[in-house]
Amino acid sequence: MIEIDKVSKAYGAGKSRFMALNDVSVTIRKNEFFTLLGPSGCGKTTLLRVIAGFVDPTEGSVTMDGQDLLVLPPHRRPVNTVFQSYALFPHLTVRQNIAFGLEMLGKPKAEIAQTVDEMMALVQMTAMADRQTGQISGGQQQRVALARALAPKPKVLLLDEPLSALDFKLRKDMQIELKRLQTETGITFVFVTHDQEEALTMSDRIAVMSAGSIRQIGSPHDIYEQPAERFVADFIGDTNFLPVQVGTVQGDMAEVTLSSGKTVAARAVLGGQGGGTTLAIRPEHTRLVPPDQGLLQGRLENVVYFGTDTHYHVAIGKDETIVTRAQNLPGSVAQFKTGDTVGVDFPAGVGQVLKD
Ligand code: ATP
Repeated sequence: MIEIDKVSKAYGAGKSRFMALNDVSVTIRKNEFFTLLGPSGCGKTTLLRVIAGFVDPTEGSVTMDGQDLLVLPPHRRPVNTVFQSYALFPHLTVRQNIAFGLEMLGKPKAEIAQTVDEMMALVQMTAMADRQTGQISGGQQQRVALARALAPKPKVLLLDEPLSALDFKLRKDMQIELKRLQTETGITFVFVTHDQEEALTMSDRIAVMSAGSIRQIGSPHDIYEQPAERFVADFIGDTNFLPVQVGTVQGDMAEVTLSSGKTVAARAVLGGQGGGTTLAIRPEHTRLVPPDQGLLQGRLENVVYFGTDTHYHVAIGKDETIVTRAQNLPGSVAQFKTGDTVGVDFPAGVGQVLKD
């Protein structure tokens, strides 16, 4: 429903010209929870502001349901924005803050009262309706800001790192709450975050951005399981990068030879036709085995306990390291200790040959 086509944004001119967005194309579908994910400065906020109308792109088009958005001023676009700072009026009550936008739109009093009641129920703030927003907690302010943005029933809600100010526990609760709100209202959410876990847990689809460009678009599962390139594999989750030689490629599978000389099948959806390249493999897809077994052999350098799981760092050769992760099941005992020679194994088909 939102078509972003070949959008670029340049700041400055001449030598100091800087491309905050570089030829970005993406379609955001109706009713989806769509996330822009990437490191600081990659252009996420700029793209969100292009949709909102606060930034004019240098090139490209943005349409919603076929209608050109770029000709409309921000307040005429069928979108609403929730900013990182919430921007609530501290001396107004919860009820007054939520009603504010509706009053500006000139809605009838009875309709405003009804919508505000609905919104307060939705974000579970009814009990605090008459408290000033300067006197409620950060998480509660967050929910009021959301209710205020949802009240005019925009087709699209743009959210710019809305949870970043919250502490860990509250952020986790709000992630679930936001997802619930999105599902209940059916409003399209475009969500900006640099937190990969947040993106994976909440989104229907994710666009991973780097240096003004979109590197990959896909479901959380696709992005995590089939990263298209090294940047994506590195930014999302933990990944081992192993040097390999690619042999026969059949369909989307390739036979790769590891540094040990042993071969294994790996996914090669996006190329890797022969020659030396890199195999990306998640730590949880590998396991430690006795040294004479498995695909690789090395020295166990480090054992790091994380509560739910333990990470084992294995030095394979001079420049090759692999991290293996094992869940700590009740009663499980460590089989290996630092300094041991160990084997590392992983099943066929779980590694991903990367585009170089
Ligand atoms: P963060 O997560 O840190 O907010 P971001 O991915 O949202 O980062 P943007 O705010 O979109 O990044 O900025 C992208 C790049 O454009 C940054 O390098 C930033 O310095 C630059 N930039 C943003 N606004 C301007 C401006 N008005 N003038 C010049 N450069 C700008």
